[in-house]
Amino acid sequence: MSQGAGIDSILKENRVFAPPHEFAVASRVPSLERYQELYDLAERDPEAYWAGVALDLRWTKPWTQVLDWQPPSARWFDGAETNLSHNCLDRHLATRGNRAALIWEGEPGDARILTYQQLHRETCRFANVLLRLGVRQGDRVAIYLPMVPEAAIAMLACARIGAVHSVVFGGFSAEALRDRINDAGAKLVVTADGGYRRGKVVALKAAVDAAVERAPSVERVVVVRRTGDKVAMEPGRDSYWHELVEGVSDKHEAASLPAEHPLFILYTSGTTGKPKGIVHTTAGYMVGVYSTTQMVFDLKDNDTYWCTADVGWVTGHSYVVYGPLLNGATTVMYEGAPDFPEQDRLWKIIDKYDVTIFYTAPTAIRAFMRWGEQWPMRHDLASLRLLGTVGEPINPEAWMWYRQVIGGGRCPIVDTWWQTETGAIMCSPLPGATPTKPGSCTRPLPGIAMDVVTRDGTPVPPGQGGLLVVRRPWPSMLRTVWGDPERYARTYWSDVPGCYFTGDGARRDEDGYFWVMGRVDDVINVAGHRLGTMEVESALVAHPAVAEAAVVGRPDDLKGQAIVAFVTLKGGTGARLEPGEDARKALMAHVVTEIGAIARPDDIRFTDALPKTRSGKIMRRLLKEIAAGGETKGDTSTLEDISILARLRADDE
Ligand code: ATP
Ligand code: MG
Repeated sequence: MSQGAGIDSILKENRVFAPPHEFAVASRVPSLERYQELYDLAERDPEAYWAGVALDLRWTKPWTQVLDWQPPSARWFDGAETNLSHNCLDRHLATRGNRAALIWEGEPGDARILTYQQLHRETCRFANVLLRLGVRQGDRVAIYLPMVPEAAIAMLACARIGAVHSVVFGGFSAEALRDRINDAGAKLVVTADGGYRRGKVVALKAAVDAAVERAPSVERVVVVRRTGDKVAMEPGRDSYWHELVEGVSDKHEAASLPAEHPLFILYTSGTTGKPKGIVHTTAGYMVGVYSTTQMVFDLKDNDTYWCTADVGWVTGHSYVVYGPLLNGATTVMYEGAPDFPEQDRLWKIIDKYDVTIFYTAPTAIRAFMRWGEQWPMRHDLASLRLLGTVGEPINPEAWMWYRQVIGGGRCPIVDTWWQTETGAIMCSPLPGATPTKPGSCTRPLPGIAMDVVTRDGTPVPPGQGGLLVVRRPWPSMLRTVWGDPERYARTYWSDVPGCYFTGDGARRDEDGYFWVMGRVDDVINVAGHRLGTMEVESALVAHPAVAEAAVVGRPDDLKGQAIVAFVTLKGGTGARLEPGEDARKALMAHVVTEIGAIARPDDIRFTDALPKTRSGKIMRRLLKEIAAGGETKGDTSTLEDISILARLRADDE
């Protein structure tokens, strides 16, 4: 990293969308002035601000200190005791026991709706089962399930008894699962006989069997019967969920847990390297996700809220399960693929359940664009009132498409920046308050001190790129990396003095809006200019024939680095370009007119797919190695489709 770590910004985006008047007047934070007041209030006394938020929730013992900060170790609400599962379930029984907590749809079209009462009962039952199987406070439980209600129930049951859950995405291989089980030392694994994905059965139990063979910590395996397929059951170790819960009491008093009791371990996506076991604790995480869900999604009693993330990612933890339930909302969960049986499945679900809030990822939005607007147009999406995105910077063209085609031009979009490490949303528009600009996550939430700085911590002036940092601890921040406190200190608290370093590059504009420019490690150095990947990619995606683009640097004797762009063209009838020399020239010229000659790609390679993590993020580090003509050496355990690498390398020859 260069001393200043400055990044040149070349993207110009002038579109601004004010919150619609009707939306604003009915929302919790109805104006930019009100947001500013809240923000300033929190800045004057952050601890008082967070304590105020925390008072909405139930505590079995009050805190003696809001924050105890011994850098880089934070303790929030120290002395207090509470229970997350109690706050998600029991707290709502008197007021909304018969409201739908979870609306679930399986890929084959089967459905289940669980009210708060029912979800509470199922959770208590499974909590009693876990206790009976010998799981105690602090023990680790691995959850390797498809998107079925039992995933949420298992998480809530762990939280209820104080067991630490480690949810592993159901698409991961046996080896990836084994690594995570061993790293956490899990005592019990919850899995299923299978799950449905694109009409096929994913054989989860077989993967667990292979993983557990060399995972000595595992004593018991609980198997949810989802497909009914026959699976091997090891006597003494494996039991079916439905048999275990039979006759077990549906009453369980949630354990009163210390505020800093570990709640879960979750491994990051692996976009930049080997996944880290991020540790979150009880009270701070609860306060963070409760308040962000309420503010950012402007939750109302009659909302039907749907976040499409898998529970295997932090978004699934915070905004499918815990955040919506803490707020007493109705959360939708869908098991399968978005293109099964056809490419309109998600729109069909929105139509069917009258979903009002829809939260998804840029990678999904780019896929919807590629599939075409005929799919959403088949359905009535008028119930939608708010849209959200998370996971990567969203290219302005994808943002515009989302707004027009899915949101009908009437729904605000909340582009939410956050990380597994931050636990909860950090920077996002408040939909009734913040005018939005396509591609910007706008301004930090109250209580969050975000900044863009040079390596020594000096803020950079508006318009200039730098390192995205957080200047102060916040309640839902990670507490450590599981089993590796040294890595925690080094990765997050050593790059910029006194600050939490996010690993991302960003700039702030004249209005104080943040624009995330990609990972600092991915910044390209061209003839003395440091360019973020996001801006060049967005210029490419703005071309009508381009579906997706990933830009990386390749060593170059003259310029330091040359720009290599990997481009996926739109298929179907609307496509205006065929891969080849003409297309290459057209796209190079397009980038020059969009952002200037400095960003002109030296090389454009067409590909039918980009290497992505299982969570759908582009893995530029692998493309960088391919562009340099070398072997891919980094960690590929979280890569979605390993064959893409071979195809990309073959194209090279
Ligand atoms: P790893 O840390 O293992 O490389 P990862 O960073 O992809 O994986 P996550 O914690 O799931 O794992 O992702 C957080 C990152 O995703 C952020 O640091 C940022 O780079 C990106 N990101 C998330 N939301 C946004 C957003 N709204 N705008 C821009 N970037 C985003
Ligand atoms: Mg990360």
